[in-house]
Amino acid sequence: MYKLSLRLRVVAISGLLYLVGAVSAFAIEPSLLTQQFFKLPLDKRLEFLNRLPFATSLKIMEEFDAYVKELTNAAYTDSLTCLKNRRALSDLKQSSLHSDGAFRQISVISFDIDHFKKVNDTYGHDGGDEVLVEVARAAIQNTRDIVFRKGGEEFEIIMLDATNVEGELVAQRLRNAIEAIQFSKYPTLKVTASFGVASATISNSETFKVLQGLADEMAYAAKTNGRNQVQVAPEKRLCELALINIQLAPQPPKP
Ligand code: GH3
Ligand code: MG
Ligand code: MG
Repeated sequence: MYKLSLRLRVVAISGLLYLVGAVSAFAIEPSLLTQQFFKLPLDKRLEFLNRLPFATSLKIMEEFDAYVKELTNAAYTDSLTCLKNRRALSDLKQSSLHSDGAFRQISVISFDIDHFKKVNDTYGHDGGDEVLVEVARAAIQNTRDIVFRKGGEEFEIIMLDATNVEGELVAQRLRNAIEAIQFSKYPTLKVTASFGVASATISNSETFKVLQGLADEMAYAAKTNGRNQVQVAPEKRLCELALINIQLAPQPPKP
């Protein structure tokens, strides 16, 4: 008898909790509900959705989709500069650079702020951060292409369907823009950057990596040559890259 009443009480309490849960599910702000839903394990999520009217679960799923998109976007974004980050760059390699093995003319601009350590030493980490933000702003304003912060004070621009000449043009324009940045908080501060440009027709992520390496090499050459300049990969190197292209190009099916 005692056991039965205990069981009844458990059932009643569970029912009450469920009722409170269901009511509060409608009462809480939808985004909060979606966030809570996201934290549940998969089986609990399904159970939860099953208990709700169809329209409500549809709404939750829509919000859930938007929430996942927001999270994905955050995972691909550098929080300081709002540029795309290194992860976004490595994922780009596998997707939009080539479609169905088709060749694509790509220009890579690699650039690195000059003597950035000195900026931090003189103006503090906040001063350094401000430089990163302003350089990122200049980069966005001076190209229609995707700008990535690879890490620290190193950036990369991927220009799809762009030639060497176009790549060099953008790099020179950005070099000038960075040199001209005025920092309202630090009136005496001036920054420059060194650029490397490499362009080629690529067909896959392997050749893209080679192209990126080439742009980095050119940026390094710009450093050793005196900084605040653009170095473009010579044609000879691009021919070598084209050779790799031929080796890696998909073979036509045998008859
Ligand atoms: P170079 O002209 O040869 O490129 O010299 P550099 O001083 O720019 O290069 P170095 O690699 O010696 O120094 C890079 C500095 O960037 C060191 C590091 O503390 C700083 N740094 C990296 N990430 C950040 C960041 O997010 N914020 C700030 N403020 N500094 C950063
Ligand atoms: Mg540097
Ligand atoms: Mg560096």
